[in-house]
Amino acid sequence: MNYLLFHDIYMSMGNTFKLDEMLNECIPNIVNKLNCFSSVLYKKNADNYELLYVTENIVETREYEHILNKVKEQFKEKSSVLIIEKIGDIYYYFFELDEFGYLVLTKCNDPLEANILDLIKHMNLKLLHAIKSCEKHGLVQKLENELQINTNLINTIINTVPLRIFWKNRSSIYLGANKLFLKDAKCNSVDTLIGKSDHQLSWSTDDANYYSNEDQKVMNSGIAKLDHEEFYTDEKGNKRWVTTSLVPLKNLNGEVTGILGTYYDITQKKENEDKLKFHRDALEYQATHDALTQLPNRLLFIDRLEHSLYLAQGKNTKVAVLFVDIDNFKNINDSFGHTFGDSVIKEVGERIKDSIRIIDTVARFGGDEFVIFLDNISEIMIVTEILGKIIKTLQVPLIIHNHTLYVTVSIGVTIYPHDAKNAHDLIINADMAMYKAKGMGRNNYQFYTEDMTQKSLARMKLESSLHKAIKNKDFLLYYQPKFKVDTQTAEFIGMEALIRWKDENNQFISPDVFIPLAEETGLIIPLGKWIMKEGMEQIALWYKRGLNPGRLALNFSMLQLQNNDFISYFQSLLLETGCKHEWLEIEITESQMMKNPDKTIVLLNLFHTLGIKIAIDDFGTGYSSLSYLKRLPLDIIKIDKSFIKNIPSDEEDLAIVKGILALSKSLNLTVIAEGVETIAQKEVLVEHGCHFIQGYYYDKALSAKDIEKYL
Ligand code: GH3
Ligand code: MG
Repeated sequence: MNYLLFHDIYMSMGNTFKLDEMLNECIPNIVNKLNCFSSVLYKKNADNYELLYVTENIVETREYEHILNKVKEQFKEKSSVLIIEKIGDIYYYFFELDEFGYLVLTKCNDPLEANILDLIKHMNLKLLHAIKSCEKHGLVQKLENELQINTNLINTIINTVPLRIFWKNRSSIYLGANKLFLKDAKCNSVDTLIGKSDHQLSWSTDDANYYSNEDQKVMNSGIAKLDHEEFYTDEKGNKRWVTTSLVPLKNLNGEVTGILGTYYDITQKKENEDKLKFHRDALEYQATHDALTQLPNRLLFIDRLEHSLYLAQGKNTKVAVLFVDIDNFKNINDSFGHTFGDSVIKEVGERIKDSIRIIDTVARFGGDEFVIFLDNISEIMIVTEILGKIIKTLQVPLIIHNHTLYVTVSIGVTIYPHDAKNAHDLIINADMAMYKAKGMGRNNYQFYTEDMTQKSLARMKLESSLHKAIKNKDFLLYYQPKFKVDTQTAEFIGMEALIRWKDENNQFISPDVFIPLAEETGLIIPLGKWIMKEGMEQIALWYKRGLNPGRLALNFSMLQLQNNDFISYFQSLLLETGCKHEWLEIEITESQMMKNPDKTIVLLNLFHTLGIKIAIDDFGTGYSSLSYLKRLPLDIIKIDKSFIKNIPSDEEDLAIVKGILALSKSLNLTVIAEGVETIAQKEVLVEHGCHFIQGYYYDKALSAKDIEKYL
């Protein structure tokens, strides 16, 4: 056989691995050499034929389809490798290229010579081989391209993500890393990293040991360590936090061949978390502590108390709740100012804290109030001991801003479970007991008793009735006459206005009961305004009618005088009622005046300059400082009835009365004795020079109508 005929064809098959190029060169060569007309190459795919190559002169559609159909039929029938068909003067040759496909050759006029057909079959084998080589080569190239694309993609990813990435072999030797890691490792390029262990990098020996140990743990176990927070110290000595993940790398057999590590810096996040925690803690502290004393506040106190009560219930122990209120604290504020008062509150809080045990809690409830609970009380003696300590610690004078002052407190005590079962009721009980201690003269403690609740309820009822009474003006003004006396005569000179309240049941309620309540609740302000108006209208009316009512004394508390619009209201009433200032007199008790004498002097001067006489009431009970007495704008001293009651028989009282009379004379003040009930009292007073008298000996307080008999 003449293979030489195909030499050129064979040569053209090996020239290139590119299938297109190879077919372009080879098939026209076959057509030429065999004197054929055209050629078509089909590739057999799963369910169709793909036209791989066609020579230019067979583009006619009909023929093309015809060839295709023939090929399909032949494929179906699995017929012989070569089919020759003649249509008109064209011979068609179909050569099967194994399972690959078909080569079709057409020749015009003459058939191919029989002896060449074998050569063609051989050539086809070569062609098939060349096609497969090309395809294989193309596939390899395609894979290489894809690999390159993927490698580029991975490189882009690992150098773009904000992660440090590295990978090592089974012995923890670096095989690669991304740029961020190289920067941390102080390597200029990946080549300077590859082949090194952690001990050859810039980290400390301790860190290097730690890293390779961790690698080995993960590689030995085959289990990834994910999102592990750890820290290291950077070259500047700063602590830096990272989140690390270590993943074992495995080969196709599942054997661990290395490790992939990633980490990212979370120092900023950690610092933010720390700041947030700090702020959260600070907020929580603020919400549960008193800003001034830094002691627990009501919220925290109740929380702790409830917890303690719960435990006490289980252990069968007692808990004591102490309500502490500083005595006359307003005086401190008034005398030294609010900031000074704050320092006193702070100091008292600290002293109380130092007097209780570590297991106890003291809280500031606001104002000058502290509440304490004493935990785990086995016997009441423990409570009295601690109470004693608190009272005693305050006996040491406070030195604040260079002032030395004494502070006392009143304390109410209640015991769980005896007095109440819950925190709320215990605190209320202790508060009530504290009020009792105030009533008992302050600077003492009182234990809660059940009748306190009854009294407190009665007080609440009274308060509500008082509100209603003020709204409905359910009050009456009574007038007690005053007389200028000597041994023989008694001349009416004026009267003191005294308020009377008839409640819903038409019962008189004593002013001793409701005036202190009115003062505590602030209701004294509207009540005082009513008294002023009623009194001024009445006295103006009497004068208008040509009667002679003398001077009308009105009682006020300092709280009323301090009220911002008191003086302007007073003046507007003078105009409105036609009452003249010389018809009026103001009475203020000695104890009220002495609460804050400097302020009292300023306020009373305002009235005094209006021409209104001022009397100091209940004199002798309020510990007047003589120097203040001199400076106060006083006209009249009213001797308290407690000194009158037992004269002349009680020599001490008589001595006091005489003393007051002598003092008043030297200060040029008028003296009036109140509560005079007997002739003996009257006579001894007159004998010692007291010529102004008020009391049942002459008359009690009378209604406006009844007192007219004196006018
Ligand atoms: P008592 O003996 O009846 O307790 O008389 P008191 O003058 O102490 O009166 P009370 O306890 O009712 O009043 C406490 C006062 O404390 C009322 C208010 O003017 C004052 N106060 C409230 N909070 C503060 C504060 O934070 N700082 C200061 N300096 N004073 C306060
Ligand atoms: Mg107080």
